[in-house]
Amino acid sequence: MLSKQEILSVFKETGALLNGHFLLSSGLHSPQYFQCAKVLQYPWHAERLCGEIANYFSDSKVDVVVAPAIGGIVVAQEVGRPLRRRAIFAEREGGKMTLRRGFEIRKGERALVVEDVTTTGGSALEVMNAVREMGGDVVGFGCLVDRSGGKAKFDIPTFSLIKMDVRNYSPEDCPLCQQGIELVKPGSRKISES
Ligand code: ZN
Repeated sequence: MLSKQEILSVFKETGALLNGHFLLSSGLHSPQYFQCAKVLQYPWHAERLCGEIANYFSDSKVDVVVAPAIGGIVVAQEVGRPLRRRAIFAEREGGKMTLRRGFEIRKGERALVVEDVTTTGGSALEVMNAVREMGGDVVGFGCLVDRSGGKAKFDIPTFSLIKMDVRNYSPEDCPLCQQGIELVKPGSRKISES
């Protein structure tokens, strides 16, 4: 098992977790910004982190690992690898989470749903519904980072590698604005990755 400290240090080292003063797409300000793709771009980190999810569900008799695209694809791949099981993904078609590309769930197959970051759990739930509609059984849910603050709850065994609290402020009562710290928009070049 990786410790919370080890996980956080990999996130920081790879620039996935940034500290500062960020403008989020929601318009809120935050002292932290997390971009999971930054850590998953290193296959050896992806293998190690996702391996923890695989390990947790090693006795769950998983037949297939399913993820919502795009963020979940790498996670499904790296969870399916040690389990020696298929890794597939669902994507939106006309607004509905759908298995395309000839991906199939056979009736009674045991599916493990995974994703990178859980914010509301909405996409994961849609994938679970798609699996069930095809006759599959959802036997578990795993994610690398749960930032739902306990809001994403499923009635199946659930595992997250780490839980991260998100502090968001409206611009009017942002303490970082009050301290005069420069506001940066993630993805711009101004972010220092320390
Ligand atoms: Zn601010």
